[in-house]
Amino acid sequence: MPLPKAELHLHIEGTLEPELAFALAERNGVELPYADEDALREVYSFSDLQSFLDLYYELMAVLRTEQDFADLADAYLARAAAQGVRHAEIFFDPQAHTSRGVGIGTVVEGLARALDRSEERHGVSTGLILCFLRDEPAESALETLEAARPYLHRIVGVGLDSAEVGNPPAKFRAVYEAAAALGLRRVAHAGEEGPPEYIAEALDVLGVERVDHGLRCMEDPALVERLVRERVPLTLCPLSNVRLRAVEDLAHHPLPAMLDAGLLCTVNSDDPAYFGGYAEDNLRAVRDTLGLSRERLRELARNSFLAAFLDHDEERRARYLAEVEAYDFEREG
Ligand SMILES: [Zn+2]
Repeated sequence: MPLPKAELHLHIEGTLEPELAFALAERNGVELPYADEDALREVYSFSDLQSFLDLYYELMAVLRTEQDFADLADAYLARAAAQGVRHAEIFFDPQAHTSRGVGIGTVVEGLARALDRSEERHGVSTGLILCFLRDEPAESALETLEAARPYLHRIVGVGLDSAEVGNPPAKFRAVYEAAAALGLRRVAHAGEEGPPEYIAEALDVLGVERVDHGLRCMEDPALVERLVRERVPLTLCPLSNVRLRAVEDLAHHPLPAMLDAGLLCTVNSDDPAYFGGYAEDNLRAVRDTLGLSRERLRELARNSFLAAFLDHDEERRARYLAEVEAYDFEREG
């Protein structure tokens, strides 16, 4: 069994594997411009952000019904469980679906159908995080939160994703204030391609409790000191950083320096179907390329549970943490 871990940075739309894309396309009568799964898999080996985004949004067309979203989430949870994930906080992008005529209720109820059975079927506890597309207007984010009201009992928090540069956190001040008033937890992507200032802004203006990516904090020593002092978790995604060129290659990833600095880092998979690997694949890649020790790997797993939104169930968090401490690397599968 791989090291037990929580996955805290995972876009459910980014788990759509070619096989499922074709199955859903057929079920829904959607024509995909690829001869077969192999041809589609070929396209998955894009090498820049724009070709990734083009493919990502093109394939979303196959997601239409509650059952489609349930099947998508169930396929992810099965893979995550096999990779040692014990708890997953899953991002979804309602605007990517409402903009093409799929209601937010279809998305949330579909995902919830799989999440409700996840513990029993896969041994994975779950949470849902509603993300706003930051390249859409702030009003659209407010409308999305309003539309989500009937489903808030299904949602643990809000996040912010998509194209970062030119869309600073402060643009979403109002919707984050509204989310906080509704009792929702807050996270945001910041400091992936955007500057370190966006990280501070996400903390100060949006009140985020975790920063997604955040690797560019390393350009600002005072910010690093603050993140260490305030114990702000960072959800890093190493294979994603390589594919989207946020780092030159994995050997140049700042993760070891970030751990040495005392930052509360976690390792996650982002859009695993597109970026070459799920949670354990990411951990093994950094272990092999960056030479992380077993104690560093254990620290990353421990951090993932410390950073999880499990405050309502501290007993469960303690159980997961105990699993991490008891893990025997000699017996890893
Ligand atoms: Zn992401």
